[in-house]
Amino acid sequence: MKFAHEFKEALQRGGFPEHWVESAVPYGQLKKLLKKVQQELSDLGLDRETMRQLLTAHRTPSAVGPIAMAKYHLDPNDSRLLRPRLTVYVHLKDGVAVDASLSPASRDFVKELVSKASLTQDDPSTGTKFVEHDDIVGNELARLPALSTAADPSLPIREQPLQRIEVPLVFDGEFFQILQNDVASLDALQREQQESMEAEILDLGQEVSEVARPSKFSKSDLSRWREIFELYVDARIFFSTQELDHGARTSDVAVKQLVWFQSEVQRRGLLSKFKLPASKSTYQHFLALNATLLRSLEFQEINKRAVAKILKKFDKRTSLGVSKDFRSVVRSDSFMSDTIAKNICARMVTEVVSVVPKIDDYLCPICFSIAWLPVRLVCHHVFCIRCIIKMQRERKRFCPLCRANVVMEADITNLDENLIKFLERWFRKETKEKQKANEIERGKELFGDSYQHTSCSMM
Ligand SMILES: [Zn+2]
Ligand SMILES: [Zn+2]
Repeated sequence: MKFAHEFKEALQRGGFPEHWVESAVPYGQLKKLLKKVQQELSDLGLDRETMRQLLTAHRTPSAVGPIAMAKYHLDPNDSRLLRPRLTVYVHLKDGVAVDASLSPASRDFVKELVSKASLTQDDPSTGTKFVEHDDIVGNELARLPALSTAADPSLPIREQPLQRIEVPLVFDGEFFQILQNDVASLDALQREQQESMEAEILDLGQEVSEVARPSKFSKSDLSRWREIFELYVDARIFFSTQELDHGARTSDVAVKQLVWFQSEVQRRGLLSKFKLPASKSTYQHFLALNATLLRSLEFQEINKRAVAKILKKFDKRTSLGVSKDFRSVVRSDSFMSDTIAKNICARMVTEVVSVVPKIDDYLCPICFSIAWLPVRLVCHHVFCIRCIIKMQRERKRFCPLCRANVVMEADITNLDENLIKFLERWFRKETKEKQKANEIERGKELFGDSYQHTSCSMM
């Protein structure tokens, strides 16, 4: 399928808001302009091949390295408006280009250009300018060694004027102006979306903290939300931290991962287990926000592809080789970069997912169960009390994480009271289970393996 058609379909199919579609890359318009650029170049005798030869022909040998006989580049002026410029550097003798490396077609082009320019030299509307070599091209060209020329080998090259000719083109300027404006409006759109998503994320964080709030007496959906967010992090929908496939996801992958996450939540019946009615609407809000981010990613993706395609087409049809230049000259902080999914995802994790603390962040690094009761050593590393007691019995003096000599000095004052309160609040079930496991272990130590645990506490 042709890309123009594919792009149009993707815009229609995507269900994007109308004002997004209005900012989409005007691919058809750019394609028409590209035709005009081609026409303009061919009217000047600059077909693809001649253009390619001019841009790649080098004056050699040269003390300053090879220098192209023509240059095409995008000039960002003060208003940050790109002005493409095609400049040709030639030695002229009686209005005829005499460089040996010029092909007959290129020679014809220069001759044509020169004759037009001299005929209408007093008419500023032609835009063709002749400039002596020592002003703009500078010393670089002036220092070039003499070249033999096919036109008149008896004449030293220094006596032949080296001239810079700016080729007047109109439609390429229009092409890049439209493209540049569109990238700017896509950038603005992206920023606007990012801001609105960030605001929504803050709201959602509030909602989650309401429904996932731990509660002793009233109902809470803490454990359901914890499971949902664990699944969400596992799904790595927009961003992967896996070593093998790290970095931003394409929207195709993100769709698959989001579908997996939703079906897994369904499969585990987490929604029907909700005790608070508000949990359901919060979950819907969470899904909707993910869907918005996904759509934004899709929109960015297809537009980036359209920009790449049209630039590639431009290069292919004109030989002007400008895609790279465009990317480095055009400022685009949001649209052309991959940062939006990354930023939004990071915000989603810090403002929403992290509202519900994860057990993984509170494990004892020795026994890999919850660090209960938590003992904070002088080196600030935290272990469960059982593991510290065992280390002290075995006279292991060094912290297993940082090798500081701090284990033997730990006592009751090293219990982290704030962390105790925090773990009791957020991990009620886990702390109780660990407490019981500790009691059983202690009972077996005292009374042997036949020890039978009763609910009477003895820790
Ligand atoms: Zn432990
Ligand atoms: Zn340590």
